[in-house]
Amino acid sequence: MQDQERRIGDEARRIMEAFPEVFGKPPWRIEETNLAWGFSCGKGWYPLIERLSADLTAIVQQDGLSRFQARQVKQKLGKLRFYSKGGNERTADHILQAELEAAGKCEHCGTQHGELKNLGGWLTTTCDDCAAILLKSRA
Ligand SMILES: [Zn+2]
Repeated sequence: MQDQERRIGDEARRIMEAFPEVFGKPPWRIEETNLAWGFSCGKGWYPLIERLSADLTAIVQQDGLSRFQARQVKQKLGKLRFYSKGGNERTADHILQAELEAAGKCEHCGTQHGELKNLGGWLTTTCDDCAAILLKSRA
């Protein structure tokens, strides 16, 4: 494994490697793509990202979107953001649905009861239990 790829966690790497039509193929170099950071969000959202990736793969194949490419997956201001290029209305719609679904899901543990919270200036979509743990760990 290349040095610049160590930022990608094992679980994110597994998902990225499973869907080359969405994420391209390794190596993901920092000079070339923000995917070199893996998924910059909590692991509670990973199952949702994996499901979205499977949906996008099907659309890419059905609609012949050979130029589709995920550019970055991150949490921004507490919300899931999935940036891509080369898609169409269907890919945009699926990405939007996943982002909306993530807004109600704890990004740390994946429970359905997440909501946007401000933990001392850090915006995160979290359940009450994870919020308490996070606040304690930062105190
Ligand atoms: Zn939680």
